[in-house]
Parts: sequence; structure tokens; C-alpha cells
Amino acid sequence: MADFMTPQQRSHAMSRVRGRETKIERLVRSLLHKQGFRFRKNVFNLPGKPDIVLPKYHAAILIHGCFWHGHAECKRGYLPTSRREFWVNKISKTVIRDKENINELMEKGWRVAIVWQCALKNRQSINNTIGILTRWIVCNEDWLEISDAPSTPRTNTASSSIL
Ligand SMILES: [Zn+2]
Repeated sequence: MADFMTPQQRSHAMSRVRGRETKIERLVRSLLHKQGFRFRKNVFNLPGKPDIVLPKYHAAILIHGCFWHGHAECKRGYLPTSRREFWVNKISKTVIRDKENINELMEKGWRVAIVWQCALKNRQSINNTIGILTRWIVCNEDWLEISDAPSTPRTNTASSSIL
């Protein structure tokens, strides 16, 4: 996200980012469906409106775009340098809300999987991710998080230089 963008251009760019998120949600749904899983999508009466809910397995899957959900230590989670305060404020609210929703889901007895967008960046990572996800669905573990973020902590310097 560059500094020279007008607010209109920026908002257009952001809507395209959102469009990609919808696409990755659709992709995961269709791959799970092919594996024979049956589910409900965007369940409004559950905390955080999970993208995919498998009532049979008591599993809720949330697919998170790295930018909008503030994926820490992921290069797709870097915030724009322009209007930085605005973005930090906006994204940190989402991060807090996500945590609350996940806690609530788990309190209600749901098993929760977070799939970050960066775990779905090419055919190979998509295959790996779907494999991990389908094994998790049928197991008994309460929690799963799949991502491709490096383990090194991100710094302000690094996040400024990438933009
Ligand atoms: Zn990420």
C-alpha cells in the first residue's frame, strides 16, 4: 500500500484484498466438499460468524486474511505506512474481536481452526493445508492454527521497508 494513493484508490485496493479473501474461503469450502465433508457456512448465530461450521464434528473453521486480521509475523500482515495510526487502530480492534470470538466459541464447546491466508498461497501449500485441516476435523483436538508465517518477530523497521 503506497503513500501516493488517494483515499478512493486505497479503498478500491482494499476491496480487492477483501475479494481475494472471499475467494480463498470458497476454495477451502470446495476442497472440503470434495473430500466428502458437509458443512454450513457463515453461521450468523455463532460468535465471529465462522466461515465453515461442521456440526457433526463440532468444528468451526475461520479463514483469516493476513492483512485484515493482523497476522503477526507474517509479511502479508504489514500495515500501510500512510495513515498508520488509523490502520493500527482498525486492525488491532479486529485482532481483539477475533480473540474474543474464538474464546466464546470454545466456551460453547466448539473446536476451532484458524486458517491464515498465507497457508493457501500456492497449490502445494493449499494441498498441505487441506490435509492438515481434514485430519484435524476428524480428530479430538480443540485447537488448530495453520499459517506460513516465519517465526522471527516483525519489527517496525521491517514493516516500513516492505511498503
Ligand atoms: Zn499470514
